[in-house]
Amino acid sequence: MIPMVNLKAQYVEIKDEVERGLAETIENCAFILGPNVQAFEKEAASYLGVKHAIGVASGTDALHLALIAEGIGAGDEVITSAFTFIATAEAIKYVGAIPVFVDIDPRTFNISPEAIESAITSKTKAIMPVHLFGQPADMTEILQLCEQYQLKLIEDACQSFGASINGKQTGAIGHAGGYSFFPSKNLGAFGDGGLVVTNSDETAAKIKQLRNHGSNVRYYHDVIGYNSRLDEMQAVILRAKLKRIDQYNQGRRHVAHLYSELMADLPLITPYEDGLGVHVYHQYTLLSDRRDAIMQALQDHQIGCAVYYPVPLHQQNVFKEECADISLPVTEHVSTTCFSLPICPFLSDEDIHKIVDIIRGVLKP
Ligand SMILES: *Cc1c(COP(=O)(O)O)cnc(C)c1O
Repeated sequence: MIPMVNLKAQYVEIKDEVERGLAETIENCAFILGPNVQAFEKEAASYLGVKHAIGVASGTDALHLALIAEGIGAGDEVITSAFTFIATAEAIKYVGAIPVFVDIDPRTFNISPEAIESAITSKTKAIMPVHLFGQPADMTEILQLCEQYQLKLIEDACQSFGASINGKQTGAIGHAGGYSFFPSKNLGAFGDGGLVVTNSDETAAKIKQLRNHGSNVRYYHDVIGYNSRLDEMQAVILRAKLKRIDQYNQGRRHVAHLYSELMADLPLITPYEDGLGVHVYHQYTLLSDRRDAIMQALQDHQIGCAVYYPVPLHQQNVFKEECADISLPVTEHVSTTCFSLPICPFLSDEDIHKIVDIIRGVLKP
């Protein structure tokens, strides 16, 4: 059996460090916003090359709080991709804003800068690109649009911790960026967690207040906030993994490149690296008209595989009424042919060969 992600193998490597840290936390009973959250925020800010990093309860909350802090609210239009996880659009909805879904680049699956520009109206307040599957979106073009049209740039970097473009970390380029530490993400906790980063002192101060019931001083509340803090125990785990994140991402890149090399002669479309930035392969996603047959064969051999994402957001039940007039041909085509293979730093070359042989058996019997 080969799972999509092998979290167990990763745990074995950091077991001693994690167990020591957890035992210490339990011993000290500093469970909320304790020393590990503070240290992790410092270490993450330094790694990401950004002034402020604020731990929150999830990636969804990170995006939600970033939007509030950047002043996005009722009736504002936020341009984003429909080929993403629902949380990107949920965060926009939470603040009363309107997600405006535009099409993607057929090769990178990332939001198309040309499509963004065509969708800008007088109500547009922000662009929220997603660095999908770990590949940086075209930030040079997107930054230029933000400057030209005076828009906020809030990055959904939930799948791209450690990916960079033009020497900058994804998430740390715009006004604010959000990361998720959901266990299967490139930097994953042992539960939920998230992070907001920003270079703005003002935005950072707002996020710190919002995550903690709108309070700067205990029992004095200035705004309606939330209970959305990064958990101290999760911070212990994240600190151990952050030290190794480059090694993990390098491992993912190795897996991806070996897959692509071994499948070069097969009639399917392997992931495209646009060369603009460093792709950290949160997912290894291919396109094939024979997706169903390939996935059936993999399942028969107990090999994990999945479709990210089978239904683009504008076609989800929750959005289909308000998006009735929208058609996104590239997004729609990709969602009917894409599928993802197991990827994690601990997938062996032997397993990769095995997976490719099964796919070869379907496509070139
Ligand atoms: C995982 C993810 C989120 C949400 O993160 P959670 O920590 O699960 O709340 C948001 N956007 C994208 C693109 C994601 O992959």
